[in-house]
Amino acid sequence: MAHAVLALGANMGDPALQIAQAIEAIAGHKQISLLKQSTLIVSEPWGKTDQDRFHNGAVLIETTLAPLELLDFCLATEAAIGRVRIEKWGPRLIDIDIIVYDELVIDSQRLTLPHPHAHERDFVLDPLREIAPDMADWLMIQTDNKSA
Ligand code: AMP
Repeated sequence: MAHAVLALGANMGDPALQIAQAIEAIAGHKQISLLKQSTLIVSEPWGKTDQDRFHNGAVLIETTLAPLELLDFCLATEAAIGRVRIEKWGPRLIDIDIIVYDELVIDSQRLTLPHPHAHERDFVLDPLREIAPDMADWLMIQTDNKSA
C-alpha cells in the first residue's frame, strides 16, 4: 500500500461543498482508504490574483492505485464535480493535485512528483504539515536538493 497526500482547492460555486464532494469520492473509492483529513483554510489567490479567495485542504490516503491511476482518478473526480455546474461557473470548481506519493520522485509528461509548486504555497504546506508532517519535511528536503 502506498501513502499519498492529495491537495484540494476551490474558489467557485460552493468551495466547501465541492471539497466535501471530492473527499466523499476519494473515501468511496475501493482502492483508497482515507486516513486523515486536514481542516479547511481560506487563502488569497496565487498567481492570477483578480479572483475570489480559495478554500484549501488536504487528505492523507492509503492506496493500491499506481501514481498515474491515482492521477486519472483525480482528474475524473474533478470532471465529475465540475460537470454539475460547468455551464454556469466554468471548469475550475475543484482542483485535486497529488502532492506526494510515498517517496516517489517522477518528472514525466503527465505527472511530476513531488508536486512542483507545493513547497512554495502555504495553502498546500499548511494542510500537509497538519496531516503528514513527515511528508512535509521530506518534500522540503527534496526541493532544497533540487535548488542546491
Ligand atoms: P491543473 O489543472 O493546473 O492542476 O493541472 C492538471 C494537470 O497537471 C494534469 O493533467 C496532470 O497531467 C498535470 N500534473 C503534473 N503533475 C501533477 C501532480 N503532481 N498532481 C496533479 N496533476 C499533475
